[in-house]
Amino acid sequence: MQHAHGADVIDIAAARVVDLTHPITPEMPLFPGDKPYASETLSTIEVNACCSNRFSMDEHAGTHVDAPAHFAAGAATIEQIAPEQLVGSAAVVDVTAAVAMNPDHRVTVDDLRGWEARHGALAARHIVLIRTGWGARWSDPAKYRNEDARGVMHFPGVSVEASRYLRERGVRCIGIDTLSTDPGSSETFEQHRAFLGAGGYHIENLANLEQLPEAGAVVVVAPLPLARGSGAPARVLALVPRSGDPAA
Ligand SMILES: [Zn+2]
Repeated sequence: MQHAHGADVIDIAAARVVDLTHPITPEMPLFPGDKPYASETLSTIEVNACCSNRFSMDEHAGTHVDAPAHFAAGAATIEQIAPEQLVGSAAVVDVTAAVAMNPDHRVTVDDLRGWEARHGALAARHIVLIRTGWGARWSDPAKYRNEDARGVMHFPGVSVEASRYLRERGVRCIGIDTLSTDPGSSETFEQHRAFLGAGGYHIENLANLEQLPEAGAVVVVAPLPLARGSGAPARVLALVPRSGDPAA
């Protein structure tokens, strides 16, 4: 729930916890060129009396965070993102209708202003989550990447203008339920350059955004603090007050 002075107060015992993370599997959709997740057995209960495995995966696979250093030389690496920036008030911007008409939709400043008209001005305490509906395609990698005959991917992303607008508002984090905050057809990653270059960070491949209200949830973003990492797989959890409106 949100008080007049803008502070979030959540009764943890009464909150619903929504996991915004896809399980990590060898089959999950990847950005072209990335290597699949793999796990090998190190010990088993039968032989060693304890069970352990070794895993390998790319920094930018599955539900993950892009650190500023992903596209900006000398900028913060993943373990350097301040913990205060990893917790925020969820602003869920729903563009599913626009995306249903046009899979190449880029979130516009007007999309953001629509949210602000209903819930108040976006500010530094917000984590902006873009709900495109694309998460429903996760279990089908070909549909998730949505490549045309020329191999160009088509999925929605965020415009450079909207990204600049969010940084001007003090917003540090944009999350999205697609492979990238840049639209799939992008070859220049202008949105990444603009937002990461301005000290922001991204969450990509989010799950279950349809389970969140447009406003009122608290989000906790927990990327692995890999030393000098350009990004890392992350567990992302949302706490939704019982009074939160169920998503449409
Ligand atoms: Zn990215």
